[in-house]
Amino acid sequence: MKRRKFLKNSSTATAAIVATPFLTSCQDTPKASEVTVIPETKVNFPIVICTWNFLNASAKAWEILNAGGTSLDAIEQGVKIEEDDTTNQTVGTGGRPDRDGNVTLDACIMDKEGNCGAVLAMENIANPISVARKVMEDTPHVMLAGKGAEQFAYEKGFEKVNLLTEQSRLEWLEWKKTSEYKPIINIENHDTIGMLAIDQNGDIAGGCTTSGMGYKMAGRVGDSPIIGAGLFVDNEVGGATATGVGEEVVRTVGSFLIVELMRQGKSPQEACEEGVKRIMAKNEGRNDFQIGFIAINKKGETGGYCVQPGFSYRTYSKEGHVNNASESYLTP
Ligand code: ASP
Repeated sequence: MKRRKFLKNSSTATAAIVATPFLTSCQDTPKASEVTVIPETKVNFPIVICTWNFLNASAKAWEILNAGGTSLDAIEQGVKIEEDDTTNQTVGTGGRPDRDGNVTLDACIMDKEGNCGAVLAMENIANPISVARKVMEDTPHVMLAGKGAEQFAYEKGFEKVNLLTEQSRLEWLEWKKTSEYKPIINIENHDTIGMLAIDQNGDIAGGCTTSGMGYKMAGRVGDSPIIGAGLFVDNEVGGATATGVGEEVVRTVGSFLIVELMRQGKSPQEACEEGVKRIMAKNEGRNDFQIGFIAINKKGETGGYCVQPGFSYRTYSKEGHVNNASESYLTP
């Protein structure tokens, strides 16, 4: 019934005929007056979409989806590639520290049932996305923060690791000389990976993982691990996720907003554009920050939009593995 409801709401699809619920037996031949005409969708899945040009992460997720794996596994294994890439200084190991020199990680994950889990400001654990999944699957809670999240991870068998690489440590020491807090658009702080996937069953899952803004205040948490802000998935409609200045995404509950806009009939592209416009309406005249949204709907249609030029997002489906240049609200 849920699927039928979604199909009925779809505006772009062609028509298909399905018997009305009172026809319970397959021997019943429905008369024309007894059928409900509902749209039939042209689907494009399995498919994965992620923020930025994360070639290896999207390839890993696709490998799992293409082999018949679940969207949830594809998300976890896909974004882990970035968490483990020490050259990515905004996710996982190698992430930039806060202003006190501590690397604190945020992540969340959401499945087709609307279950979700998140860890906030967690130290010393290399794969926050996997801990977030454990929070979702093994606890009655949605979010664990700080020491509690770290302790939980140890209980689940995760090892204590040093997340601060020499490169990030040296850059932090350099930064401390001036302590100027002014993130460089598209370069510093903006490689958070948000990922959405639809598996061969048509089920959607999503995840988002980051070390947050470099040199942030101790304890600062952005949008990335906040369900509804940095990520939202509704298996009847679609999903959305974000990268960029988390404070602004939280203020509009951006990812939830985009999914709701798709529910109301907007395409993923239109919904992402509206999400960015809402943020800019609250920031008139500002051009000093970046935010990028990506979205996918139940049919596997995708979209992305951002504040500043320079954002891109990867898609991988049977149609190919593509780095899509996003259109932006502001011009160069
Ligand atoms: N959204 C992340 C945060 O605010 C950072 C980013 O994506 O650039 O923590």
